[in-house]
Amino acid sequence: WSEAAALVAAAVGDRAETWDRTGRIPLETLRELGTKGVLCAQIPQEYGGLGLSSLDNGELTAATGARCSSLRSVLTSQGMAAWTILRLGSAAQRRAHLAALSSGSLAGVAFSEPEAGSDLSAMSTRISEDGTGLRVDGRKVWITVGAYADLLVVFGRFGDEAAAVLVPTDAPGVRIERVADPLGCRAAGHADVHLDGVRLPRDAVLGGAAMPLGLIATTALTYGRVSVAWGCVGILRSCLAEAARHAASRAQGGAMLASHQLVRRHLAELTVAEQAATRLCEHASRAWDARTSDLVMAAVLAKHFAATRAAEGASTAVQVLASAGSRDGHPVARAYRDAKLMELIEGSNEMSQLMLADHALAAWS
Ligand code: FAD
Repeated sequence: WSEAAALVAAAVGDRAETWDRTGRIPLETLRELGTKGVLCAQIPQEYGGLGLSSLDNGELTAATGARCSSLRSVLTSQGMAAWTILRLGSAAQRRAHLAALSSGSLAGVAFSEPEAGSDLSAMSTRISEDGTGLRVDGRKVWITVGAYADLLVVFGRFGDEAAAVLVPTDAPGVRIERVADPLGCRAAGHADVHLDGVRLPRDAVLGGAAMPLGLIATTALTYGRVSVAWGCVGILRSCLAEAARHAASRAQGGAMLASHQLVRRHLAELTVAEQAATRLCEHASRAWDARTSDLVMAAVLAKHFAATRAAEGASTAVQVLASAGSRDGHPVARAYRDAKLMELIEGSNEMSQLMLADHALAAWS
C-alpha cells in the first residue's frame, strides 16, 4: 500500500486546499490515479486491480484521508462500486467493468433519493422490463463522484424486490446536476442524478436478477463503512499532527502551549481517539480479510466510532490552533467541515446506534 500512498501523495501535493476552494479535483488527476488502480485498490489482480487486502487498503485510505477527504471520498465510492460489481455481478459483468474501473473509468454508488435517506425501503426509483431491455426512472441525490463518474451503480425497485443496475452517465435520459456548495468534502463531485426513461440492455442488472434490498444494501454499505472509518482515522492523524506541531511551536503566557496542561489534555484525547479508531478499523479489516461472520457489525462499530471521534477530534484541533486554524482551507478547518459529514453517511450516527443496540439486544438479552 505504501507505493499507492506515494502516488496519492504526489497527486495531492499542496493542492488539497485549492481543490477544496474550487470544488474540483482535475479529472486527469482522478483518471491517472484510476489507471494505476489506486482508486479501488482491493480489486483482485485477475481483474487488473492491485489486489490489496482490506487492511492494506485501509492504510492507503487513511493516508489519503489525512491529505484530502474529497479524494478519499472518491476512493470510497469507486471502491464501493467495484466491490458491489465483484460481489453481486456475473462473471461477464466482473470482467467487463472491473478492468475498466482499474484503468481510469470512474464510478459512484446511488442509493439516496429525496424521500429515501436513512430509510432505503422508501426508494421509489423503478427498474422495469422494457421489451428485450430495461428502463430506469427516478431521482438520486447527493451521489459522491456523480459529477465525475462514467458509470453509476444505481439501486432501485425491480418487481417485488430490488436490484442494482449499471448506468453509464452518458446514456440518454441521465442528467447530472452538481450539489452546490457542500459543507465539506467539497471536491468529491456530489451530484443529484435524474433518470428519465433511461434504456439499458438486460445485462445491466447485476447478477441478472432481483435481490433482497437488505442484501444489496449491506453488501455495498459494509465496504463503504470500513472505508469511511479508515478515512476518519486519516482525519484524526492529520488533526493530531497539526495540533501537536502548533502546540510545540507557539508560546502564550510565557510558556509553550504544549506545556499548558489543558492544551496537553487536548493532545492526549486526540491520541486516544486516533489509536482507538485505528484498532477498530484494523479489527473490521481483519474480519473482512478472514471473511468472518462478525464483519457487518465490526464495520458499523468502526465507522460509528471513527466518525464521531473524527468530528470531535477536528473540533479539538481547531481549539488548539484557535485563530491559526480558523481560516477556510487550513487543514484543521477543512477537517472540521469534512469530519462532520462522516457522521451522516453510510448510516448516520443514529442509524448506527440503532444497529449496535439491535446487536447488543440479540447478544445479551
Ligand atoms: P434523514 O434520513 O432525513 O435523517 C435526518 C436525521 O434524522 C438524521 O440525523 C438521521 O440519523 C435521523 N433519523 C432518520 N431516521 C431515523 C430513525 N429511524 N431513528 C432515529 N433517527 C433517525 N447517498 C448515496 O446514495 N450515495 C452517495 O455516494 C452519497 N454520498 C453522500 C455524501 C455526503 C457528503 C452526504 C452528506 C450524503 C451522501 N449521500 C449519498 C446521502 C446520504 O446517504 C444520506 O444523507 C443519509 O443516508 C441520510 O439521509 P438524509 O440526509 O435524507 O437524512
